[in-house]
This record gives sequence, C-alpha cells and structure tokens, in this order.
Amino acid sequence: MVFWLCFYLFFFLLAIAIGYYKGNLVAGVLLGYVLGPIGVLLLCMSKDRRHITCPFCQAQIHKRSYYCPKCREKVMCVA
Ligand SMILES: [Zn+2]
Repeated sequence: MVFWLCFYLFFFLLAIAIGYYKGNLVAGVLLGYVLGPIGVLLLCMSKDRRHITCPFCQAQIHKRSYYCPKCREKVMCVA
C-alpha cells in the first residue's frame, strides 16, 4: 500500500515538474492527478509551449528570445 502511494506520488510530482517546465502547469497537475504515469507520458508528448525550435539550427530556444543563442540568427517569433 505504501509502495503504491509513493509510486503514485512520484509520478504526480513528475507530471507537475514537466508541466511547469513546458509552461503548462495546470495540465501537468491535472494529468498527473487523474492519470498518474500515463499523464506523465502524455505530458512528455505534448507540445512545449515555452520553447520553440530555431528554424536555422533546430535548437530548442525560449520563445521570447529574439536571437538564437546557439547560431546567433535572428528568430522571427510567430506565436
Ligand atoms: Zn539557431
């Protein structure tokens, strides 16, 4: 019983962490709470709302950044 509680709590916290990282904290909390490990999996596959892919070097950069820190190209923010 204690094992499953820890198991569930671990995935719940993991879902919150991933949700926070992707700028989608509410979805992280809900998915982790309702679905547990499956919610974590769904979160991993969900779109990252805080980062965009640089069109020049495919690096993950913050969506508010004006220049790509990796290749120094100007990034046009569409979102
Ligand atoms: Zn780049």
